[in-house]
Amino acid sequence: MSDQNRTEINKLGEFGLIDKIAEKFSKQNNSTHYAIGDDAAVIDVGDYYQLVSTDMLIEGVHFDLSYFPLHHLGFKAVAVNVSDIAAMNGIAEQITVSLALSNRFSLEAIDAFYEGVKAACDAYKVDLVGGDTTASPSGLMISVTAIGKVDKDKIAYRSGAKVNDIVCVTGDLGGAYMGLQVLEREKQVFLENPDMQPQLDKYQYIVGRQLKPEARMDLVHELLDLKIVPTSMIDISDGLASELHHIAKHSDVGINVHEDKLPFATNTQETALEFKLDPNTAILNGGEDYELLFTISQDDFEKVKNHPDIHFIGYVNEKSSGLNLVTTKGNPIPLKAQGWDHFS
Ligand code: ADP
Ligand code: MG
Repeated sequence: MSDQNRTEINKLGEFGLIDKIAEKFSKQNNSTHYAIGDDAAVIDVGDYYQLVSTDMLIEGVHFDLSYFPLHHLGFKAVAVNVSDIAAMNGIAEQITVSLALSNRFSLEAIDAFYEGVKAACDAYKVDLVGGDTTASPSGLMISVTAIGKVDKDKIAYRSGAKVNDIVCVTGDLGGAYMGLQVLEREKQVFLENPDMQPQLDKYQYIVGRQLKPEARMDLVHELLDLKIVPTSMIDISDGLASELHHIAKHSDVGINVHEDKLPFATNTQETALEFKLDPNTAILNGGEDYELLFTISQDDFEKVKNHPDIHFIGYVNEKSSGLNLVTTKGNPIPLKAQGWDHFS
């Protein structure tokens, strides 16, 4: 190919690239109910939908083994995939785990990784049913696929949000991002002075959010018990702003979220200020919290209004009003999505 025909991937971005790939394919099987574009693919197997989601974790891009213990990495690799099944309001049942590894890794290292995989399998009640193992010229690459199921009338896509729905988010946001900042800083300190011990005590909560994220399967079960089907749902892997954009775009709606309703932990806020960062930047654009962002109909509000871990952060509006952050002073400002873009 001549250079004149060359389009740089970073011009398209991750989502532009995925759209280009998706354009080439049309479905050949009726069982393919929903293909590319949501947190998981949806396969019609008769009585229920089967859900399939896959994610890769690459050394040097998604994790740094100088501060990421292998057993935590094993847990996280499973949790982030289970989280995508949860984001469809589904329940994960099986996983496959594929590894490409260089000769830098010993049996003991791989054992530690699989201790984490096993802990996650136990925590989320999923079975490891296969995978692939191969050599890598350098570094570690992990690919996990999760398979789950959901009743046909309970599935939650990114696309179902309706005007007047309430926007909800679980847990607290921005912690995983601030945890990463701390780990990166301590790594630099260590590289400059190997006698220094990392100072992590003060940051235990946010470092835990980065190294030990949990998939919110608990919430999926709770919603099931409460007989609530979210009108739309997505998990927060790239950051709240980016995920709100996905819901707004797929649902063809506008959304207002309120600055004073955004949930964060004190540890996140204090650390952001210490790093001279606006805590809102971490909350809106920090990724990897793996909380669930969803919308519910106003009729369901009574059932969850006192829930300790669900936060009501805004409302769905007509598309024409756009996606906005309503500041504490009451001014709506358009919300930009700054998800992780590994290509830039
Ligand atoms: P998530 O952040 O929830 O894991 P992604 O942004 O990674 O979702 O992916 C969005 C959608 O694009 C998913 O349906 C995913 O399966 C699909 N996708 C991503 N990369 C590719 C690819 N290389 N080929 C086909 N589909 C892809
Ligand atoms: Mg997702």
